[in-house]
Amino acid sequence: MTISILTIIVAVLVLAAGLFVARAVPSVRAFFTFRGKHLVTCPETHKPEAVDVAAGEAALGVLLSEPTLRLKECSRWPERQHCGQECLQQIEVSPENCLVWNIVSGWYEGKSCAFCHKPFGPLQHLDHAPALLGPDLKTSEWKQVRPEKLPDLFSTHQPVCWNCHITESFRRLHPELVTDRRLEPRRHVI
Ligand SMILES: [Zn+2]
Repeated sequence: MTISILTIIVAVLVLAAGLFVARAVPSVRAFFTFRGKHLVTCPETHKPEAVDVAAGEAALGVLLSEPTLRLKECSRWPERQHCGQECLQQIEVSPENCLVWNIVSGWYEGKSCAFCHKPFGPLQHLDHAPALLGPDLKTSEWKQVRPEKLPDLFSTHQPVCWNCHITESFRRLHPELVTDRRLEPRRHVI
């Protein structure tokens, strides 16, 4: 009798654990799908805006079978904090294509540094961030640019690797300490 009760308890616990895992896996997946800065086209202005989805809430919603998707930050806030958040549809349809990291990585990949011509591969999280060369010949890391400005900059700026960005920044800030010949960025039609 004791053994059979124990068996039932174990069976119930295993079943409960199985049910929890069955819910937890898509919940964790939802968290990783929606975390990070996303770019959307604002339905009001039709311009790019940078938003953050409440990924923790979305994950909890999946766990509790009450799907919840809302913004926790937008580049138009606080002025437009009470908008209808219709832009969330764009993230729901294609979260990966809205992720700033993927957009930036896609822009660099296949291009070459404007100075040393080294080709770019996909962005790596542990690598130094590459930079952008503006029409004023100043370089800046892409992470220092407001994300919602990136789509415009991609049509006016050229890609620069981190090494050249550091070298060119030093050259610009301390010209008196540099004696070697300046590398000119390769001019090309964007
Ligand atoms: Zn370079």
